[in-house]
Amino acid sequence: MSGLSAAPPALARPRRSSRYSSRVSPSALSAVLAELESMYDPAWAESWDAVGLVCGDPALPVRKILFAVDPVAAVAEEAVAWGADLLVTHHPLYLRGTTTVAADTAKGALIHRLIKNDVALYTAHTNADVARPGVSDALARAVGLTGELRPLQPSPDDPARGLGRVGELEMPVTLREFAARAARGLPRTAGGLRVAGDPSRVVRTVAVSGGAGDSLLGRARAADVFLTADLRHHPASETVESGAFAGGPALVDAAHWATEWPWLREAALLLSSSLAAKGIIVETRVSETVTDAWTTTAQCED
Ligand SMILES: [Zn+2]
Repeated sequence: MSGLSAAPPALARPRRSSRYSSRVSPSALSAVLAELESMYDPAWAESWDAVGLVCGDPALPVRKILFAVDPVAAVAEEAVAWGADLLVTHHPLYLRGTTTVAADTAKGALIHRLIKNDVALYTAHTNADVARPGVSDALARAVGLTGELRPLQPSPDDPARGLGRVGELEMPVTLREFAARAARGLPRTAGGLRVAGDPSRVVRTVAVSGGAGDSLLGRARAADVFLTADLRHHPASETVESGAFAGGPALVDAAHWATEWPWLREAALLLSSSLAAKGIIVETRVSETVTDAWTTTAQCED
């Protein structure tokens, strides 16, 4: 943050797990991060992403770990109130880098709050998206897929990993029934789910992508329905129009936060059990604070 460079400095991306293999203490943050990075290798992250440790001392002990989707003020307060030593979030706090963490900015105030209370902040973002199990595996299970899952967009270096998942429902259901099932399986948000397509259409092959998945619309063409978040009017309209004309998926658009939240439970369980296998006992907790950006809806009344 010297400001000597013309380009805004991005947060350095941690290298592979060896960075955190120092033997300070068995329960040190460094040991926990080494485990996290064996689950979600930072090398798997997209080049534009900013994953890894944002603040915190790798030598300090970790006993309590809070998992959340968004590093926002309400979540930081929750971490402090619970006495967390580590907050693991899916979304980066500083995706595009920064030149200040001054406390008179929202993000700077959050960083100050965490550091003053000895709460480390760690991000596992696109590296958790492509992991197996990863974000979209948990989403697929939450909306009712029980069988084998395949990546919608396999990673070039390992086709077993990748973005999105596709699989088959045990029994075909109508689009209306699938959407109702998805709504029951996902945490409640103000906006609920939006559905595009004939509600009585029968669906069996389901594609899902946690977060904004419109880049995968083309790859989801062979599915009967594609569930993701943040779909925009034109890509959604064109997909449904061409689907009715020549075959293609119906769409279910869920809240961004809700599509990624199911992963938190899996990540918490995976981390605590793999640490326990090494004799490191931590307490994990998944934040239930709804941090989706949309907080209410309105409809004009007839
Ligand atoms: Zn996301």
